Amino acid sequence: MIPFSPPRIDEKSIQAVTEALRSGWITTGPRTKEFEKRIAAYCGVQRTIALNSWTNAAELALRWYGIGPGDEVIIPAYTYCATANIVKHVGAKPVLVDVLDDFTINPEAVRQAMNPRTKAIIPVDIGGLPARVAGIVKVAEDSCAWFSPAVNLRVGGSNPQMRLGRALVLSDAAHSFGARIGGKPVGGQADITGFSFHAVKNLTTAEGGALAFNLPAPFDTEEIYRWFNTMSLHGQNKDALAKTKPGAWRYDVEAPGWKCNMTDLQAAIGLVELERYDSDTLPRRKAICERYHAGFAQEAAIDRPLLKDAGREGSYHLYMLRVAKATEEQRDAIIAAISAKEVSVNVHFIPLPLLSHYRNTGYRMEDYPNTYQQYSREISLPVYYDLTDEQVDTVIAVVKEAVHAVMG
Ligand SMILES: *Cc1c(COP(=O)(O)O)cnc(C)c1O
Repeated sequence: MIPFSPPRIDEKSIQAVTEALRSGWITTGPRTKEFEKRIAAYCGVQRTIALNSWTNAAELALRWYGIGPGDEVIIPAYTYCATANIVKHVGAKPVLVDVLDDFTINPEAVRQAMNPRTKAIIPVDIGGLPARVAGIVKVAEDSCAWFSPAVNLRVGGSNPQMRLGRALVLSDAAHSFGARIGGKPVGGQADITGFSFHAVKNLTTAEGGALAFNLPAPFDTEEIYRWFNTMSLHGQNKDALAKTKPGAWRYDVEAPGWKCNMTDLQAAIGLVELERYDSDTLPRRKAICERYHAGFAQEAAIDRPLLKDAGREGSYHLYMLRVAKATEEQRDAIIAAISAKEVSVNVHFIPLPLLSHYRNTGYRMEDYPNTYQQYSREISLPVYYDLTDEQVDTVIAVVKEAVHAVMG
């Protein structure tokens, strides 16, 4: 059987976790702080914070921006449920818009959906291909004239909505660590960029996530970092490490925070993953995607995904092909035929309006025709470090045979 995306676990990662265990410090500590510094350096930003998931990190970003009941957050209909769920968690309304043929959010559709209740926009770098973040920031800036900040909002002593004066652009870069926009690593384009280090993602810490901060002046990144650090630990002004110093037992709680810190066991895995990311992980993933690309080049029945264009290069997280002219039923039959040959594939993602909760709360698939058009024909193929060229060739042969068997 060829699995879909097992994590890469070798002696190096096992050794790193063992060392962290033996060090006697297993929760947030020196390894997490080192991991944060290294991701910041990688992304070319001043600061990042490492937390326990994309979900909790991005939700904290919405809370930092003071988003709540009565507010709207624009997201693509085509995404993982986490993007929408966090908006619900803070009591705001997810406003869905359609995507372009490359699966990313359509900036023009975002422009149409903007209104004075819009407090944030979350573009999603689906499959690792960056969304048009500069275009989204432009849309947010263009509507700053009627942006209406919550006037009495105080977050950590300041009012970030008054300071930014427009909708926050929070990038869902759960798939795109290491992707590039205009030659620069993803992380330094949106106001805040969120990464996921979940077990299936390009770079993993088993579970984990991080935020890269890129807010314009006069925001103080150090102050923002301190807010997120404190609020990820119950609003306590001293973390466990700070309290180990003799006599440093006294602490205060500045606000009722949350609990979503990263542990040093996770960071130990992340440090190993990061060290070999550019030299080893990314090139292998790229080679796999390019082998699929070459393998399907002559297939009229298969639309290959966009891996890069003039301004963007993806992170090769997923190989999201589409079967030309297939209906959803035909796509499902193709997947059944592929699975019968012991190859694991997936569909990224079931659009939000097709999930019970979102369907039952009024979102209709007909309103997002291009999302359905992509989803109904989509199949994601295995991409992971240990996948061999021979296995890639097997997948190509199995997929072609299944497509021909169903589509004729
Ligand atoms: C995985 C994923 C998330 C959630 O990441 P977690 O770290 O599991 O919380 C969010 N958005 C997208 C597009 C994802 O694929």
